[in-house]
Amino acid sequence: MTVLAADPVKEKASAQKTWVFLFDELDKVEATAKPKDWEDVRSLLGGKGANLFEMTRLGLPVPPGFTVTTEACNGYLAANHEFPTGMWDQEVVAMHEVERKVGKTFGDPKNPLFVSCRSGAKFSMPGMMDTVLNIGLNDETAKGMIELTGDPRFVYDSYRRLIQMFGSVVMGVADEPFEEAIAEQKKKRGVRHDVELTAEDWQALVEKFKTLVKAYKSQEFPQDPYKQLEMATRAVFNSWFGKRAIDYRNATNISHDLGTAVNIVTMVFGNMGNDSATGVAFTRNPADGTKELYGDYLINAQGEDVVAGIRNTLPIMQLKQDMPDAFNQFLEIVTKLENHFQDMQDVEFTIERKKLWMLQTRNGKRTARAAIKMAVDMNNEGLITKKQAIGRVTPEQVDQLLHPQFSAEIKKSASKEGRRLVSKAVNASPGAAVGMAVFDADTAAEWGKAGKAVIMVRPETKPDDVHGMIAAKGILTSRGGATSHAAVVARQFGTPAVCGAEELAIDVDHRIFQVHIDDKLVEVREGEWISLDGGTGEVFLGQLPTQDPDFDNEVELNTLLKWADEVRKLGVWANADYPKDAVRARRYGAEGIGLCRTEHMFFEEERLPIVQEMIMATSKARRLSALERLLPVQRGDFEGIFRAMDGNPVIIRLLDPPLHEFLPSFHDLVADLADLKVRLQHFHTLSEIDTALGQVRAKEDVLSRVKALSESNPMLGLRGDRLSVVMPEITEMQVRAILEAAVRVKREGIDVHPEIMVPLAGHVNELKYIKEIVDRVAAEVFAESGTTVDFKYGSMVEVPRAALTADELAEVAEFYSFGTNDLTQTTFGMSRDDAESKFLLEYTEKGLLPSNPFQQLDRGGVGKLIKMTVELGRATRPEMHMGICGEHGGDPNSIEFCHLAGLNYVSCSPYRVPIARLAAAQAAIKHS
Ligand code: PEP
Ligand code: MG
Repeated sequence: MTVLAADPVKEKASAQKTWVFLFDELDKVEATAKPKDWEDVRSLLGGKGANLFEMTRLGLPVPPGFTVTTEACNGYLAANHEFPTGMWDQEVVAMHEVERKVGKTFGDPKNPLFVSCRSGAKFSMPGMMDTVLNIGLNDETAKGMIELTGDPRFVYDSYRRLIQMFGSVVMGVADEPFEEAIAEQKKKRGVRHDVELTAEDWQALVEKFKTLVKAYKSQEFPQDPYKQLEMATRAVFNSWFGKRAIDYRNATNISHDLGTAVNIVTMVFGNMGNDSATGVAFTRNPADGTKELYGDYLINAQGEDVVAGIRNTLPIMQLKQDMPDAFNQFLEIVTKLENHFQDMQDVEFTIERKKLWMLQTRNGKRTARAAIKMAVDMNNEGLITKKQAIGRVTPEQVDQLLHPQFSAEIKKSASKEGRRLVSKAVNASPGAAVGMAVFDADTAAEWGKAGKAVIMVRPETKPDDVHGMIAAKGILTSRGGATSHAAVVARQFGTPAVCGAEELAIDVDHRIFQVHIDDKLVEVREGEWISLDGGTGEVFLGQLPTQDPDFDNEVELNTLLKWADEVRKLGVWANADYPKDAVRARRYGAEGIGLCRTEHMFFEEERLPIVQEMIMATSKARRLSALERLLPVQRGDFEGIFRAMDGNPVIIRLLDPPLHEFLPSFHDLVADLADLKVRLQHFHTLSEIDTALGQVRAKEDVLSRVKALSESNPMLGLRGDRLSVVMPEITEMQVRAILEAAVRVKREGIDVHPEIMVPLAGHVNELKYIKEIVDRVAAEVFAESGTTVDFKYGSMVEVPRAALTADELAEVAEFYSFGTNDLTQTTFGMSRDDAESKFLLEYTEKGLLPSNPFQQLDRGGVGKLIKMTVELGRATRPEMHMGICGEHGGDPNSIEFCHLAGLNYVSCSPYRVPIARLAAAQAAIKHS
């Protein structure tokens, strides 16, 4: 064995740069690594490393060790997989220091030291990168360890774990041959569980594993402990760019240039007999947020056994009976940790022969419901401020909570309708999921990409399955508990999951699972529908319908949103076209309607024929007659919205879309005509022929109107305020409907604030022209009714010319609303109907654009126009009220931009109003 000594010359040369820090050197980190705050420490040491340093500083029982920094990882990756100068020497020196601390020597058979090598990035990426345990074991140290412990079973079990992990993680041998060898050994012995294998079995497996490594890699498993350490360090660095790590970072928006630290930690063993154990625990329930210790452990096992879900674990509270002293100390430590970090902690621990060791602590991942409850509870407990509480919940989590659920009645009746309840297992991640069963991650990803709803069904999941888990609507496993890989990842992504459904016999090879229902064996094949309730752990066959959540009864969410309302500067309004949407918007906290798209009312079944008649009219008189019939229905809609929004502003936009959208398509008409003409030949009576001919003529009329209206670029054609210029009578009818409705509800005692908005304007003269119509009709309505109503007249900003001349437009417009869907389209010159399906996704995939500009506001271009509009508009009209009503109004990143740009409000779909309330508060706190 060659123990590499540090080279003093090299060490001197690299004296300036420290790549490696011992766990008790947090002061040195703070002094030499120029971190400004805890975030910088985490950037340098990774989240796991930073917290190990902090726990050491708090005097908690952390096994001695050291961390190789993320800077070293980035240096290594940048230099074509060469360790930065001096790094390895520092690692060796640190190793000697650890040896001194624990009184053991790495590679010394008489008193061997073993270490684990663990990845640890700034942001936790559970299971996405590599870890190797038991480094330092070899043929010699194994013998020495047996002498010391008198426990050959433990030693050979640990040694085979090293070869297995090292073989697969570091050397790239697939996991299966090792698993098959274990299965074979069990079969030979006639036993079912790993724990039943003897020392001799494990010893035989050690030999077998070594030959497997040799056979697959034409290379021996390295016996030199320092070689093991060096190769493991490289493997962890390399795993930063492993496929699953990249997938995970893409899915969670973690930057790819952070790199991972490597933590080398003295091994402590949870598999040293029945007075040893290992486990993971959360200081609060990560599924629902209850303040209780939550987690699992295993006696006589190593850490990965708990997370992998291969042995069924014990609930953490049972440790109180099994090992009371260790449990009490553990409880005291985790309480201290939660208070110290002021957040729920997710800890890993090992008990080696009754002695407790803390291996990790981090802020625990949690479901949306738990995040909200914990944030509110922790404020009530005095642990965090309201502002901190607001920062503890992401807008996406609020979104998740408002996702559909199964109603209790639906579930009760499910068994009667053939949608059977087949299992009630661990409620690992809440929410309702309905999808087709698939049995591997690749199929899940492929079907998900094709737009199918899938539920991924596996005995247990592994980090390699993440791409499938991201694509799935739900996750179902037959093994493992609340802290299994499947559960942790599902909670992270907000995907509903049920784990440990032991009733299901999952046969991945044949792509089926079997389950007994009333003594009958039922088979579910790939592609068949199943439904999961991740909140209760129930699994149903078939498709259960879902329903909206009960927002009013979400007490903690409403508390948190009230706190958000106290700090946000932006108003939150909603886009609503119907009274029922306005009612929902108000319930969700909207303070106004930012956009009522009047054309949606035109599309309703009984109205469309009148609208079509209006469009088809060849004379003004006929058009007016159709408009007269539309007037009362529009007025009725507006009355409903005004009533729902009593006391709040309602912005109603004049008709916007190109008129052909209300008519059948050219292709459908041609096909219908051809069909009619064929049928004509089969009619015999004169009256049949007459009727059919009449139909043909009517279709031909529509066809010629459709032809006349057809345009090469309809989105840049006769639409928006251009319709008011060409057909002012439509505008007259709409203005009359708005103001008559306002007069009527005002008489009922409703406090009504209508605002009339012009779409697509780009020249001040357009606004002046339409204003004349509006003012004329208003004067008529007020004179006829003998009542006046205050109203405003304003413009959307949807084309660059409106932004460029916003000072002129503001002479007429009293308010602006940014239609960022169109403004993005017109600024980029990209069709909003085609760009995403034709080319835009390639732009984001190839990094030409940081994100889809139709989803996240393009600050550099569209944002610049918005800022310009704000400045120019308010130069003319200092108090001018401005908001956004494009889809971006519900996107947290865009909301932050709106806050910075000085808008008054954002307007979004009613369902996103709670999200916007939180996002607006977070923006205000971030930039206060
Ligand atoms: C917009 O363009 O952003 C907008 C709100 O209007 P629409 O989507 O109806 O064109
Ligand atoms: Mg628009």
